[in-house]
Amino acid sequence: MIIDKIAICQRRIHNPLFTLQRIGDEFGCTREYVRQILKSNKLQTKSKRRFKVTCLNCGNEFSIWYCNLHRRNGKFCSRVCYWSWCRTTIICKICGKAFTVRNSDIRGRLKKGQSPPRFCSKRCQGKWLAKTAGFEVHPENRLQKGIGLKWNWDKVMELQKQTGWGSNRLGKTLGIPYSTVSNILRKRRK
Ligand SMILES: [Zn+2]
Ligand SMILES: [Zn+2]
Repeated sequence: MIIDKIAICQRRIHNPLFTLQRIGDEFGCTREYVRQILKSNKLQTKSKRRFKVTCLNCGNEFSIWYCNLHRRNGKFCSRVCYWSWCRTTIICKICGKAFTVRNSDIRGRLKKGQSPPRFCSKRCQGKWLAKTAGFEVHPENRLQKGIGLKWNWDKVMELQKQTGWGSNRLGKTLGIPYSTVSNILRKRRK
């Protein structure tokens, strides 16, 4: 009977958990014979349960159980490494703060034809929008805090009576958000 040496080697490569006895039973030979073949081909002779893997994120070597080897996070030494591998840090254009975004989110945005996120929060996005639209807040039209009203309503009404402008133009000249001006006008009309 001819024993296929290549098949034994392949069996070892695909099943690192198998013992020599198990491989020997399969091919009808002794475990000593299997050990000799594996050793001459420079393959591991003992059944292997823990594997040494290098972390994709930090490059450290660590050992892992065979059952966890093919898991999604089996290539990372820790949860922190997996977390940071899945994310990219972006620096906010307005406040300069660093924040993290999931890579899958960025991929999804690029698929839709959108740019990756540039701002840490909605507040920063609003500030950027005000800057690019040529809209600046004038602090002299803002009332003190604690009064209840944020903006000087009388000034808005006065200018509206004089000129008859719409809320967009009023807001631009007074430095008050346009939606706030339209709200003021609607409430005063009632
Ligand atoms: Zn790591
Ligand atoms: Zn920001």
